[in-house]
Amino acid sequence: MSARYLNEEHKMYRESLKKFLDQEVRPYFDQWEEERIIPRGLWTKMGENGFLCPWVDEQYGGLEADFGYSVVFNEEIERVGTGMVGLGLHNDIVVPYFDTYGTEEQKERWIPKCVTGEYITAIAMTEPDAGSDLAGIKTTAIQQGDHYVLNGQKTFITNGIHADLIVVVAKTDPDAVPPHKGISLFVVEKDMPGFSRGRKLDKIGLHSQDTAELFFEDVKVPKENLLGEEGKGFYYLMDQLQQERLTVAISAQVAAEEMIQMTTEYVKERKAFGQPVSKIQTVQHKMAEVATEVRIGRSFLDDVIEHHMKSKSVVTEVSMAKWWITDMARRVATTCMQLHGGYGYMEEYPIARRYRDIPVSSIYAGTNDIMKNIIAKNMGL
Ligand SMILES: Cc1cc2nc3c(=O)[nH]c(=O)nc-3n(C[C@H](O)[C@H](O)[C@H](O)COP(=O)(O)OP(=O)(O)OC[C@H]3O[C@@H](n4cnc5c(N)ncnc54)[C@H](O)[C@@H]3O)c2cc1C
Repeated sequence: MSARYLNEEHKMYRESLKKFLDQEVRPYFDQWEEERIIPRGLWTKMGENGFLCPWVDEQYGGLEADFGYSVVFNEEIERVGTGMVGLGLHNDIVVPYFDTYGTEEQKERWIPKCVTGEYITAIAMTEPDAGSDLAGIKTTAIQQGDHYVLNGQKTFITNGIHADLIVVVAKTDPDAVPPHKGISLFVVEKDMPGFSRGRKLDKIGLHSQDTAELFFEDVKVPKENLLGEEGKGFYYLMDQLQQERLTVAISAQVAAEEMIQMTTEYVKERKAFGQPVSKIQTVQHKMAEVATEVRIGRSFLDDVIEHHMKSKSVVTEVSMAKWWITDMARRVATTCMQLHGGYGYMEEYPIARRYRDIPVSSIYAGTNDIMKNIIAKNMGL
């Protein structure tokens, strides 16, 4: 089934991306999961083939593609495995900050190399003591002449090990009232003295995804690396987080669809009491229930994507899709793993990895509790 917002060109793009993933990713993905990192070489290969930031203007090396291409990209990398999520984060979450808030000079300096894969990007909001409460961050960037002095620590940063450019959220006015008005965004480049990377974090899932701690000790960030206006950082984040949350919902939806497919095949093959497990009525009912939930998720998601592509305000809808679809995918994972019996607990069955990988979707990009806070607030409650 193809969504109404996708046309023939999107379909051709999907086919060429699938072919690329079959050749360059699928044969190696298990190895990358074990090695706990996706090699840099994949980024440059993706860049060479036009798969990085295709939405970028032609003058910076892009294809001026619409968000339908991003949907296809995020769907297909998710089909391989959620560990690929860092590529989607680069394409549809971090580089858009440069494009939306960057000066002409910054765009020329950074975007073309993000399209080729020479630059890998990350966004560093979360700190050891502040995640949901973004206004409570402690990282500071204090202006001194022609630069800012950046001090602080970030954690759980996707692409943290590979990143060449990091959008860092910091307080330029630590005494601002309310605190979020003192927040600004900076682009830290990997060779800036005082910047260092900490541990590559050991996660229960998303094994191939690069997640790290980052440290900033008296990093002199030139004024030319301030993104947008000082004090506007929080508003920029709130704006851009919509697309981030939408991509998380897209990934979770695809993960759920994949789990239904693999479990349908499994229960048809597995025999118990002289018949395929799929002939047991309680199994059929469980499958019918999760399949219905997944179908409902797809309908709602397609609506939200369509509205986003028409530039409608989707803050409430995106928050709804993010919490409901990621929660739904977690329920699907539990049911589908159970229906695999003991084999579902074995790494050689893909449901095991799906089960480990899905819970983070209700945590990152704003937890599902925060999504409900946003919905309630927008309902005037
Ligand atoms: C694999 C992974 C990748 C990540 N990638 C990035 C990244 O690239 N960049 C980045 O900046 N961050 C990243 N994060 C961080 C992620 O966004 C945060 O973990 C998340 O926002 C939650 O923050 P926290 O961990 O501090 O939890 P906390 O804020 O401490 O929350 C703890 C619990 O309290 C609940 N809670 C908190 N406040 C409220 C409230 N007001 N109302 C109701 N409940 C509330 C939460 O829902 C949660 O259940 C990543 C995290 C993971 C696990």
